[in-house]
Amino acid sequence: MEYGGAKYVPLKKGKWGGKGAVLIYYSGDVKVVPGYPSIQRLVLLSKLPHYFPEGVSVEEKMNGYNVRVVEVGGEVFAVTRGGHLCPYTNARLRAIYGEELKALLEELPEGSFVAGEVVGEENPYVRVRYPEAPEFDYFIFDIFVKEGDSWKQMPVEERHELVRRFGLKSVRLLGTFPPDEAPGRVKEIIDAFDAEGREGVVLKDPLYKRVPAKYTGSYTNIGDIEKGMLYPFDEGKDYLFPRIVREMFKVYEEGLKGRDFEERALWLGKAILGPSTEAVKAVASGRPVHEEFVLRFPSEEDLERYLDYARSMGVKVKVLEKAEEGGWVVVKVRKYKKSPDVIESMLRTGRTPLD
Ligand code: ATP
Ligand code: MG
Repeated sequence: MEYGGAKYVPLKKGKWGGKGAVLIYYSGDVKVVPGYPSIQRLVLLSKLPHYFPEGVSVEEKMNGYNVRVVEVGGEVFAVTRGGHLCPYTNARLRAIYGEELKALLEELPEGSFVAGEVVGEENPYVRVRYPEAPEFDYFIFDIFVKEGDSWKQMPVEERHELVRRFGLKSVRLLGTFPPDEAPGRVKEIIDAFDAEGREGVVLKDPLYKRVPAKYTGSYTNIGDIEKGMLYPFDEGKDYLFPRIVREMFKVYEEGLKGRDFEERALWLGKAILGPSTEAVKAVASGRPVHEEFVLRFPSEEDLERYLDYARSMGVKVKVLEKAEEGGWVVVKVRKYKKSPDVIESMLRTGRTPLD
């Protein structure tokens, strides 16, 4: 595939291959970026000391999309989790942090890369409101330092320090705790995050001697269901069971009973039935529900590149509105879902495609 004068090839197999791995050629240079590793999910905080016997660093898990950044031929490239050079992400990330990212990567051995979360409401993928990132921002949570023909994750403290030194942002480091204190401290953090509407935490050995783990609160477990069920036959279907399982063990560990239990159960039930019945009502009254969002491009050319890219990925998008705002091209985009079609056919036939 091609982006901005670079050619790139997803690497499905081989030494550095795997989900999201990519080879990028640009200006006579070539770099490999391996896929970002999947993080094991924890459902019982009581097991923390078992997985992190030397203590654990707790970082905020921000809810956006994973972007790796690498330098190739003197230019920085942003790679999505799936191993693509999304033109929107590249244009916006370069506009805010192009220089800083390049400077940081130039200080590290050739072929090193950073990984972080793009967060905010102006993107085509995951839109969650954060007071510290209302539109579009980037929070680094990993630096992979090239060593021989592989990469090593930079220790937690050292990474936070380096990111700060180059004027970039990190996800929040909430503390490093001894194993026996960890379950209680993480529980406190998660309760506060649930009240504030934050996703969860990623738990890391301070020196990356053990594999990291992720843990999310009810706000996200149930909130994801609520968002997903607006499109029951798109995200809804895949979201439902795994998130119920997370809550199943959370409720067990918290020992919820009586009113507290009833409240959680009602919250979950409403998350499933609320948005999904709204979707049925909307389609029944001739208002199909589709995703709509705002994107901001440095130029018309960047917008065209993004639209071509989205369509080449098989995503149905349409520009609803376009305006110029302080040198930026601001567009309202609609992404078509298949749920309205399924619901429409069910309303017409009175039958279900499921059992
Ligand atoms: P998987 O990682 O299992 O493929 P997924 O992509 O759905 O699944 P999540 O459940 O969102 O991932 O959890 C892992 C992701 O969390 C990481 O890939 C990264 O994008 C994001 N993330 C946010 N904050 C952090 C952090 N502090 N440390 C590591 N990852 C983080
Ligand atoms: Mg995520």
